[in-house]
Amino acid sequence: MTCIVCQTPLSAGLSGWHHTCPSCAYESAALAVAINHAAEHAEIDEDTRETSLKALRQQNFRTIVALTRQYAAPGARTLLDVGSAHGWFLEAAAGAFEVQGIEPDEAVAAKASARGLPVRIGYFPQALKAEERFDVIVFNDVIEHIPDIRAALRDCHNRLAPGGTLVLNLPSSRGLFYRLSKLFARVGLRGPFERLWQKGMPSPHVHYFNPDNLTRLVGSEGFDLLHSTEIDAVTANGLWQRLTMFGQVHPLKAAVQWLGIRCVLLPLTKLFTSDIIVCLYRKR
Ligand SMILES: [Zn+2]
Repeated sequence: MTCIVCQTPLSAGLSGWHHTCPSCAYESAALAVAINHAAEHAEIDEDTRETSLKALRQQNFRTIVALTRQYAAPGARTLLDVGSAHGWFLEAAAGAFEVQGIEPDEAVAAKASARGLPVRIGYFPQALKAEERFDVIVFNDVIEHIPDIRAALRDCHNRLAPGGTLVLNLPSSRGLFYRLSKLFARVGLRGPFERLWQKGMPSPHVHYFNPDNLTRLVGSEGFDLLHSTEIDAVTANGLWQRLTMFGQVHPLKAAVQWLGIRCVLLPLTKLFTSDIIVCLYRKR
């Protein structure tokens, strides 16, 4: 196995399914994707997941829309949101762009459509018409799930109008929580590490990037970096729901975790690198 960024042979990581690049620090996971498989889907309560993440997502989406408006070409009008999920980004961007969403999870897409949002069921770019092009293409927590990421980037290049903008919002391997989870995994506590990779979820992460190796990869597929920034990975809003959403968590354990995060980790995160990065690129 070689690194998808720099072609260096990958080294064994912290688990049988985890590999890291000794040269550029790219990380990969051999975790299976199972969107629309009923058995795995039943394991998480979509409604609980939706509520618990909403406050943080909406806050971050407003930031990303403002950044996109700032860095996109002046006349940019049409925006495609790949993996639009519940449609929150479509709602946040609708005032600034003519929006279109694509979502592979049929149940999630149907719920967003029922709320009047422009969402097509399917994968990118198969769900698009042959001649369709966009001024902006956005991936919110999506690109790190796509096994053949180079093919996805080539499709973005092909589907963007000249001078179009690609917006990637994804977890960072330099983030405080991810680095702590690796520290815990090294001493045998694998829970946080597996949770951050979303092991056992319908669509786990298969890549972990930092801003440098991501820009190297995206740059090699015909894009120039416009802007790269970190955004908040944790807020106090919805924290309790996030801790208890996976079920089987003892209330006392959840309470201890809540206190730890609220009183220790949350203030600390302000001092360290955030776990979420947003990178904006222009098509060459
Ligand atoms: Zn590499």
